[in-house]
Amino acid sequence: MAEPTDLSIAEAVQSLRSGEISSRELVAACLARIDRLEPRLHAFLALAPEAALQQADRADERLAAARRRSSTDLPPLLGLPVAVKDVLCVQGMPATSGSAILKGFLPPYTATTVARLLQAGVIVIGKTNTDEFAMGSSTENSAYGVTHNPWDTGRVPGGSSGGSAAAVAARMVPAALGTDTGGSVRQPASFCGVTGIKPTYGLNSRYGLVAYGSSLDSVGVLARGAADAAALLRLMAGYDPADATSLDLPAPKLPLPPDPDLTGLKIGVPEEYFIQGIQPEVEERVRGAVIQLSELGAEVRTISLPHTEYALPVYYLIAPAEASANLARYDGVRFGPRAASEDGIDMFRKTRGAGFGAEVKRRIMLGTYALSAGYYDAYYGQAQKARTLIRRDFEAAFETVDAIAAPVAPTTAFRIGQHGDDPLAMYLEDVFTLPANLAGIPGLAFPVGFDGQGLPVGMQLMGPALGEERLFRMAHAYQMVTDWHLRAPRLDE
Ligand code: GLN
Repeated sequence: MAEPTDLSIAEAVQSLRSGEISSRELVAACLARIDRLEPRLHAFLALAPEAALQQADRADERLAAARRRSSTDLPPLLGLPVAVKDVLCVQGMPATSGSAILKGFLPPYTATTVARLLQAGVIVIGKTNTDEFAMGSSTENSAYGVTHNPWDTGRVPGGSSGGSAAAVAARMVPAALGTDTGGSVRQPASFCGVTGIKPTYGLNSRYGLVAYGSSLDSVGVLARGAADAAALLRLMAGYDPADATSLDLPAPKLPLPPDPDLTGLKIGVPEEYFIQGIQPEVEERVRGAVIQLSELGAEVRTISLPHTEYALPVYYLIAPAEASANLARYDGVRFGPRAASEDGIDMFRKTRGAGFGAEVKRRIMLGTYALSAGYYDAYYGQAQKARTLIRRDFEAAFETVDAIAAPVAPTTAFRIGQHGDDPLAMYLEDVFTLPANLAGIPGLAFPVGFDGQGLPVGMQLMGPALGEERLFRMAHAYQMVTDWHLRAPRLDE
């Protein structure tokens, strides 16, 4: 049998049901691998080995009882270990969001997306590293140290869900939850050679997610392949009364056809996504993957999304504006450490001064400025208008195509420290991922090859709102005829 840590979710569930492997063996194998690789990767901020093994034993009892009765009536993912990005609350585990200001915070409740997976039988074995409050594209903004890319530990894993991407790529867990406000699932998936879905805004509940940019935030999944990501998403999604922006819809079923036939589907390739400055190998691999999709029957045509160039400035106004409001709650009163002071205002100042990192402070200042009286219309108001134009570009495109294929990021994983003190260079990493968040549409990233240095290259398929099913169908078809998603970094020698 394959190594337990190499099993796909479908294989793991199958082996657990048949008794070929126990949940304890699977969880222990993941924990052993984490133990061995964590000193080199630092994907995790917290681990819960004892609790995970106890839950595994309980899952094994239920699995054994079901086998004795020849019953298949079990939670769909019973006994499967997963990891969760540290911006999502899981009762009983710390949630720092990668920030010193939430050090020691133990949330009293569990995020809806995680709660639904627990209901489905998964075991959360740990919380993964993230840029502070999910602000970043490299995981370097974590207050608890950078995560290393498993393909080259001198490089970043992407961000902000870099811990989740590295953990999945390194076979520490079969899947992990991430969040995507401007690319934070898709870009690390691309840098680490795994598959990541950022669903339609409102499909997954945001309840229990530490808010960053509330009109952009979405909870997503990182896994090895599209089938695995779909297996989690269909159990997490669907209406939640605890989130006012949750769509009043049942979870999508996301069926995956048994054969890779894409006849009848139209894919648009936007010319604005192949700009100057893109790494030539990224363009080549993405265009190569589009050709493969056409060989599976899809019709490919060039399209235009004319307002694409505004996505970056629009996002970097709207996201900091919303963040400045969302982060006002961290003042030393209810959460995390409190600076000593006789005076209330002085206490807030010292707590926030010591608790937030440089990037978070930069965004709070930018956002507060953009929202201030006299500037609101010029910045925030104007950005909202441009956001509408970006959304309309997509709506017009989806009149003629079923999905849009594009690179995830202009380059493969960059070196740790490469963007140093240059926030703008870091923001430029997000040019291709921000538009989907501004439009609220789904994006699915998956590996389509490697560059000359052996680093993974990712492609994303974007679809209209609630078009997840066709994105999974296309990515799954591609993964039926290719094996990029099965390649693993060599970490054992
Ligand atoms: N890199 C983007 C930012 O820094 C997106 C982050 C995210 O999606 N959470 O805001």
